[in-house]
Amino acid sequence: MSKQFAIIGMGRFGSSVARTLYEMDYEVMGIDENEERINENIQYVTHAVAADSTDERALKEIGIRNFDVVVVAIGVDIQASILTVLTLKELGVKKIVAKAQNERHGQVLYKVGADRVVFPERDMGVRVAHNLISANVLDFIELAEDYSVAEVVVSSKLVGKNLRQLDIRKKYEVNVIAIKSGDKFNIAPSPDEVIQYGDVLVVIGNNKDLKAFEERA
Ligand code: ADP
Repeated sequence: MSKQFAIIGMGRFGSSVARTLYEMDYEVMGIDENEERINENIQYVTHAVAADSTDERALKEIGIRNFDVVVVAIGVDIQASILTVLTLKELGVKKIVAKAQNERHGQVLYKVGADRVVFPERDMGVRVAHNLISANVLDFIELAEDYSVAEVVVSSKLVGKNLRQLDIRKKYEVNVIAIKSGDKFNIAPSPDEVIQYGDVLVVIGNNKDLKAFEERA
């Protein structure tokens, strides 16, 4: 049986998570204390329930323990977010993912039992900053503190050469893991793959090395 998700807080972040999972055919329950939010999202989730997630009884009635993953997407009301995570933990929820407004909020969420904390605004800020610094960078995802994946549009310097000739791994200490060429997406490029004008390289590496690659390659 496929995984079942409950999303608490159907604001911008929560509803986006819920809709994406629902479009991927997962069973998704959307929970919000605000009826209006429920009505806005009702057609994008499997079930939608109006409930206050800081109310332990309400969560029990929903059968929150039966979900494989519960996402706490309450941002502005930090107290409600923390109380919700704490209650979910006490009820024995298997996996709790919570959204944090800032680092301090994130630390508290871990302390009260979140298995994973996400920082959407901070992470998006990092991605946008990389995109601003180098027009060639289309996307940037931090994997760990020092390691990321970047999508970089190739410069004319690289066009017409194959990966072996470019020797990117040796020169920049980053790995090309995929090449996007028009609609085609080559996820295991061979060393003989010739770079075309407009190609996008998906590279993984240390942030310092990626920066050098973004600026010079
Ligand atoms: P975003 O920035 O992603 O839009 P918000 O913090 O603005 O996030 O939205 C959070 C949502 O969570 C709102 O729709 C709000 O009604 C809901 N919410 C806040 N507190 C609770 C609670 N205790 N129980 C259920 N839903 C809540």
